[in-house]
Amino acid sequence: MLWEDVCNKIQIKIGEAEFKSWIKPLVFKSIEDDIVCIECPSLFIKNWIEANLMPILENCLTACLPDVKSVRIKLVVNSNKKNKDQDNIAALPIAPVEPVATQSVDTRYTFDNFVVGKPNELAYAAALKIAESQKVQFNPLFLYGGVGLGKTHLMHAIANRIKQVNPKRRVVYLSAEQFMYEFIKAIRSKDTMGFKSQFRNIDVLMVDDVQFFSTANATQEEFFHTFNVLIDNNKQIIISADKSPSDLENIQERLKSRMNWGLVADIHPTTYELRLGILQSKVEKTEYEVPNTVLEFLACKITSNVRELEGALNRVMAHAELVGKDIDLDLVIYALKDVLKAQERIVTVSDIQECVSEYYGLKRSDLKSACRRKSISRPRHMAMYFCKQMTPMSLPEIGREFGGKDHTSVMYAVNNIEKLKKLDPHFSKELETLSRMLNAS
Ligand code: ADP
Ligand code: MG
Repeated sequence: MLWEDVCNKIQIKIGEAEFKSWIKPLVFKSIEDDIVCIECPSLFIKNWIEANLMPILENCLTACLPDVKSVRIKLVVNSNKKNKDQDNIAALPIAPVEPVATQSVDTRYTFDNFVVGKPNELAYAAALKIAESQKVQFNPLFLYGGVGLGKTHLMHAIANRIKQVNPKRRVVYLSAEQFMYEFIKAIRSKDTMGFKSQFRNIDVLMVDDVQFFSTANATQEEFFHTFNVLIDNNKQIIISADKSPSDLENIQERLKSRMNWGLVADIHPTTYELRLGILQSKVEKTEYEVPNTVLEFLACKITSNVRELEGALNRVMAHAELVGKDIDLDLVIYALKDVLKAQERIVTVSDIQECVSEYYGLKRSDLKSACRRKSISRPRHMAMYFCKQMTPMSLPEIGREFGGKDHTSVMYAVNNIEKLKKLDPHFSKELETLSRMLNAS
C-alpha cells in the first residue's frame, strides 16, 4: 500500500529512531488532486514535522506517486485526541515517552554480530575498549558516519556488554530527541531538578543522533551542563551523529568543541569486502542456503548502507520462502528489481571529465589536449581509467572522447593508473575519493 511504501522510504532516509518518533504516529487520511492529508496525534509532532521533515516527506510521497508532479501536504491534528496539552509546545508524542531508557537497548545488537572491516575498525575498537574497561579511557567517545553504517548497533553493543561484565554500572542510552522530551517533560512538570539528578546519577550516558538536537537553546544548554558534570565526575559519555562535531549544524560552538575533546571515531562507507562479510554473517544465522555468487552480487550492487543491504537480503529470503524456490541469481534479480534499478547509476564520459577536471581545477579542454605536463596528463589518465571502469565503452571509443587519442594511449593510461594505485597509497586514496564522487553524483 502506498503509505507503507512512503514510510519505508522515509525510514531509510531518516533512520529508525527518528522514524518511530515522528512518522510512525502519523495516519494517512486521503489524497485529493495533489493534496495529501495526513493526521498527526499532536500539535507538537505537527510543528516538528513542518519545521524539519517536510522536504523529505514531500520527496518520498512524490516518489511513490508517479502520476503526480508535486504534492501539497496537509497535516491535521487528530481532534479526538485533542486535550488541553495540544496547543502547548510541550505536548508529548505517544511513541517516545519511555523514561530514561536503559530498557530500550536492543539485545540483538552485540559486538559478536558486528562485522569488523577497515571502514569501522576504529569505531569498533574504541567501543569495545569502553565497554570492557573499568576506567574511563577517552571522554567523550564521538562516533560519526552516514546512516545505516552501524552507529546505533555499536552503542547498543556497548550497553549490552557492560550489562554483562559489570551489571552495577548504570548505563543510559537515549536518542537526542528522547533527551529533549525528557527535558521538556521535566519543565512541564516543574521537575527540572529531578531531571538533572536522574542524568547526573549514572555511569555511562549515550546520546544517539545528536544532529537532531533542536536548535532550542534551553535543551542544548541543559545537555551541555549534564555533559560537563558527568565528565567532571569521570563518567563515560558516548555520542553519535551523522557528521563530525565541527560539521554539525545547529549546535552551539562550545558544545561542539566539548564534543571534540575525547576520541572522535568515524565510520566510513562500507567496502565490498565488508558488505560481503556482513552478508555471510547474516546468512550463517539463518536456515537459508545462499550461493556465494548471490552474496557477491548483492555486495556489489547494494552499496548504499548496511541497513539496505540487510533489507535486500531479507527480501530475497522472504521471496524464496513465498515462491518455494531455491535462492539463485534469477530469483534475486526478480525479487529486487526495483531496488536494483534505483541503485543503478549511469556514469557518462561527460560526468567523468567534468568531475575530474573540476577536482584538479583544470578546464575540460585540458583533458582532451595533447599536453604532457604531469599536472594535466595525470588527471587525463585518471579520467580515461574511470571511463574504462565505469562505462561500457571500448578503448578506441574512449580515445575519441579525449581529443582523438588512439587506443594504445588509452591502454597506456589505464595501466599507468593501475600501477600507481598499487604503489602509491596517497594516490590510491585520491582515486577512491573521485570514484566515490562519481558514484554519488
Ligand atoms: P546507524 O545508527 O549508523 O544509522 P545502525 O546501527 O542502525 O546504523 O545499522 C543499520 C543496520 O545495519 C542494523 O541492523 C545493524 O545491525 C546493521 N549493521 C551495520 N553495520 C554492521 C556491521 N558492521 N555488522 C553487522 N551488522 C551491521
Ligand atoms: Mg542510528
